[in-house]
Amino acid sequence: AQQRYASIRDKPAETRCGSVLSLHMNAGLMADLPSLEGSGAEGVGLFRTELQFLTRSRVPRRSELASIYKSVMDAAHGKRVVFRTLDIGSDKVLPYMKATEEPNPALGWRAIRVGLDKKGVMRMQLQALIRGAEGRPLSVMFPFVAQFDEFRAARQHLLDELEREDKLGHVLPESVEIGAMLETPSLAFAPRQFFEMADFISIGGNDLKQFFFAADRENERVRKRYDTLNVSYLTFLQQIVSRCAMTETPLSFCGEDAGRPVEALCFAAMGLRSLSMRPASIGPVKSLLRRCDLEEAKTVIKTAFESGEQSVRPAVINWLTGKA
Ligand code: PEP
Ligand code: MG
Repeated sequence: AQQRYASIRDKPAETRCGSVLSLHMNAGLMADLPSLEGSGAEGVGLFRTELQFLTRSRVPRRSELASIYKSVMDAAHGKRVVFRTLDIGSDKVLPYMKATEEPNPALGWRAIRVGLDKKGVMRMQLQALIRGAEGRPLSVMFPFVAQFDEFRAARQHLLDELEREDKLGHVLPESVEIGAMLETPSLAFAPRQFFEMADFISIGGNDLKQFFFAADRENERVRKRYDTLNVSYLTFLQQIVSRCAMTETPLSFCGEDAGRPVEALCFAAMGLRSLSMRPASIGPVKSLLRRCDLEEAKTVIKTAFESGEQSVRPAVINWLTGKA
């Protein structure tokens, strides 16, 4: 598939109307990194850090993690890599963690909630990230932030670790960006100060959509009822875009939907300019974006909104078919 899109690999994801999107890839293993070159991705928009924890029978050592993070950054050759701190709980349970019986694990003790309650692992991972950077720029984002104070506290831990590493004589990253994943609807309504404090925000659409529609992402029966191109959901995404615009907070979208060309096009029409997806999706997404005019797409979407449709998909597909 990558061969098919080879001719546009080094071309920008520029729409007919001249809007340029930046396309990044999602990764979770060292083995994913070679795709950075082949896919034409600008960087790694989401590096999930769970696998190194899930594939061991104990908590990995700090030095082990630091060396993995270092190799990932080495393999990125200076391209930006956004490391997401550990997102365990819910569907990702560590074999060596005492399982807590929870009736609704997706709504339970997971991700940053675990990190803030059990600070040892989070601090160790932050130290490993700082050491892995070896003086290069470091980007860290915290998953599953539901309210401002969680982000503020997690960010403070990273700042404390930077100070501590400095005192210990370790070389500090050249720059540090600290971002939050927006994957609970509540965070979209956080105070302005949250948007000012976050160096960037990345929409985790897999979780955001499940919580927006109250439909389990693991349960196909209910998940399929709600189209990503649902008018309410797109309106919500548009509101997130405008809140970020007010504080000039860089925004991207890193859930699976970003890798679906029609969805990606509609997100671009809603104002998103940065998407992160699996490497194989970059070609198809870029190819569609390059063929479309976002002003036209916006008109099609607006007309569907006004006609009381539940989803803009039929109208968008109809328009795209007419163009083909
Ligand atoms: C998401 O929720 O969209 C996301 C990128 O994170 P994960 O799929 O790992 O929950
Ligand atoms: Mg998520």
